[in-house]
Amino acid sequence: MSEDATGDWFVVADLGGGLFRIHEPHVHRFFRGNVFLLRGRDANLLIDFGMGLRPLAPLVAGLAGRAPLIAVATHSHADHIGGLHEFADRRAHSSEAVACASMPDSATFAPMFRALDEPVTVPPGPGWQKQYWRIAPAPLTATLDEGQIIDLGDRRFEVLHLPGHSPGSIGLLDRENGLFFAGDAIYRGTLVDDLPHSDRVVYRKTMARIASLDVAIAHGGHGEALSAQEMREIALGYLAGA
Ligand SMILES: [Zn+2]
Ligand SMILES: [Zn+2]
Repeated sequence: MSEDATGDWFVVADLGGGLFRIHEPHVHRFFRGNVFLLRGRDANLLIDFGMGLRPLAPLVAGLAGRAPLIAVATHSHADHIGGLHEFADRRAHSSEAVACASMPDSATFAPMFRALDEPVTVPPGPGWQKQYWRIAPAPLTATLDEGQIIDLGDRRFEVLHLPGHSPGSIGLLDRENGLFFAGDAIYRGTLVDDLPHSDRVVYRKTMARIASLDVAIAHGGHGEALSAQEMREIALGYLAGA
């Protein structure tokens, strides 16, 4: 096992249609989030940024081409926002702006990662020590709110405010193509609604909304993609059980 995993830190899956899923296999599974790159005609869209343990921008530059890149964070938890600072056009929900400006542990929950016995299976760099790892501040250059449109030229994404897991969680929905990026609002696996800033009452409203969304495929903040039926079953299961 090499000490410096520079070359193979990220794994990229080409999902077709200009969409790439990137993740960090050496990161503890609780924190192993999805990064999505979607190449558009006039702009590229990058959704979430991993842990910030290794630079993400060089990989993205190699995949994305020359069009401007819009970086959108679904929310400000450590497993999604570590690399946001590497990009020039940084957007997230307006209620995440204060957190992104300084990335306090109280918003990112980075201490939960540092507290793991084995947060990574391979050190991200020589001499890396978990206790010194921090999320770099990434002040937003634009804020997003419910209903706003992100236009890539050939695709348009609507911002859906999906609070509950966190106050400023958002999803992005391309209604024309049924392509939905859900962040941590819904994914395959154990959903988290018990963080200090989670709100289960609000999360139930989000789940009812998600259950009624007309999508073809949903890409969550963790794990593999969901079909429309799988997404609906998870949402209805949450509503039945919570
Ligand atoms: Zn989260
Ligand atoms: Zn997450």
